[in-house]
Amino acid sequence: MTAKRRTVGRLAPTPSGELHLGNVLAFGAAWLATRADAGELLLRIEDVDTTRSREHWVEGLKNDLDWLGIHWDRETPRQSLRTYQAELESLGGVYYCRCTRAQLGGLPYMGTCRLQNHSEGAVRWEVPPDPIAFEDRKFGPQRVQPVDFGDPVLKRSDGCFSYNLAVVVDDIRDGVTQVVRGADLLEFTAVQISLWRAFGSKEPSFLHTPMVLGPDGKKLSKSHGSLSIRALRESGKSPQDVWRKVLPWLGLPGDDLHAALPFFRPEIGPVGPIQIDAAD
Ligand SMILES: [Zn+2]
Repeated sequence: MTAKRRTVGRLAPTPSGELHLGNVLAFGAAWLATRADAGELLLRIEDVDTTRSREHWVEGLKNDLDWLGIHWDRETPRQSLRTYQAELESLGGVYYCRCTRAQLGGLPYMGTCRLQNHSEGAVRWEVPPDPIAFEDRKFGPQRVQPVDFGDPVLKRSDGCFSYNLAVVVDDIRDGVTQVVRGADLLEFTAVQISLWRAFGSKEPSFLHTPMVLGPDGKKLSKSHGSLSIRALRESGKSPQDVWRKVLPWLGLPGDDLHAALPFFRPEIGPVGPIQIDAAD
């Protein structure tokens, strides 16, 4: 008889701006899902895209998480300190692509450069044709044909490794068994599962939290500065004020993340998108 593997979850913020309410929803859910399994929660700074990431955001992210009571057990090496070259080279079916954005015309990439034997450019992966079926813990059964999206870029022509490659390699190295994150990443899940399997690993469970839209109807981002956690804190709001707003998005009562833990179930609550009013 084999013992059930201990749950390992992760908080994986990108230091490209301030934490906002959509991030709080995803990180709160990650904390709850890991603690509900008495698992270990890791913090990993996802700064693989050095053109977007800035060191000065990192401390602010950690302070905001701490202020909200989203405590992690251990920080793992951030992406800018890791390399993904060996894993990239271990994959079959990778090739250089020299097509420009204009040549692609916004269409899925159908492998124009597969047989061209280019010696430089972006590195793409000939994604296996198998359909990927998985069960999202909130959004339910999903079935996606990764080839419909075309061969993904795993390393850009500027030398940056792609998010899809980095996140899968990191989660394998870090022993992650459950991934909890915002619904904007749901569409990348199938190609990531293809990568997990290509590396000979069993993929984790997935839970995507609803998209949160600002008063303008657009996905929350750093352009919604007044809804950043720092701005809310500086306007006199308490962590309880934040949780009173966010916990109902997870179908949970009250104004305290830790007190809500016994009631947490991944499948309850709205699937969204959740619209924030200007008056909030
Ligand atoms: Zn190409």
